[in-house]
Amino acid sequence: MAYSYACADCEGMEACPAKVVAETEDELWQLIGLHAKIAHDEDAGEWDDETRAYLKTLIKTV
Ligand SMILES: [Zn+2]
Repeated sequence: MAYSYACADCEGMEACPAKVVAETEDELWQLIGLHAKIAHDEDAGEWDDETRAYLKTLIKTV
């Protein structure tokens, strides 16, 4: 089993083609944070609980 996240599923990010897949959810979060920083200049460290809870609903197991 693996965890995947498609940035386009996120509200406002429909145009973003990025998808990340990782073996563990912990690794996936780090990749999401890295992607957010590189592609969207967003600091994952500043995401509040609500944002993280929302993103978590977008994570799929594959
Ligand atoms: Zn993106």
